[in-house]
Amino acid sequence: MELRRFGPNIIVTGTPGCGKSSTCELLKDELKGYKYYNISDFAKDNDCFEAYDEARKSHIVDEDKLLDKLEPLLRQGNSIIDWHVNDVFPERLIDLVVVLRCDNSNLYSRLHARGYHDSKIEENLDAEIMGVVKQDAVDSYEPHIVVELQGDTKEDMVSNVARIVAWEKMWLEQHSD
Ligand code: ADP
Ligand code: MN
Repeated sequence: MELRRFGPNIIVTGTPGCGKSSTCELLKDELKGYKYYNISDFAKDNDCFEAYDEARKSHIVDEDKLLDKLEPLLRQGNSIIDWHVNDVFPERLIDLVVVLRCDNSNLYSRLHARGYHDSKIEENLDAEIMGVVKQDAVDSYEPHIVVELQGDTKEDMVSNVARIVAWEKMWLEQHSD
């Protein structure tokens, strides 16, 4: 039997560069008592890498290992999860999936500033145009818990965080006795 959660688990996802981590940093200051899991860091800290992808210059996460470590933590609720992959977390443990979207010219500048090489920038721009992360989210979770938010400007980010905070308050009201 699943233990009851006293606070929701929120995924903030999106193509790399869409603003997940900046949004989560702001969000965790607003949602007191939440744990913030940046999965790239979490996987590194918990030794959850299975290989190194030489072509992409990035580590491949061992998803089974990751879930072994993360599931007990998610069962406690009150979590913010930051990862571009969203389809590996058990559906029963996730209450909201925020998909951040970004205009391609903005995304290009952000990834270029990050020093990504052209093929990696192109791969991410294509993924953003095709809405790959959004599609993964609606394929993996009930569509009504998936929310797409545009994140092109600082103002967008502030209003996105305000919306998530308002949603959290509503969740708490709906789940109180
Ligand atoms: P991700 O974690 O999704 O890869 P980041 O949060 O690291 O993305 O953001 C990538 C870059 O874009 C950072 O330099 C960040 O300051 C900038 N950025 C992110 N979201 C916004 C936004 N809504 N408006 C302006 N700049 C943003
Ligand atoms: Mn990030």
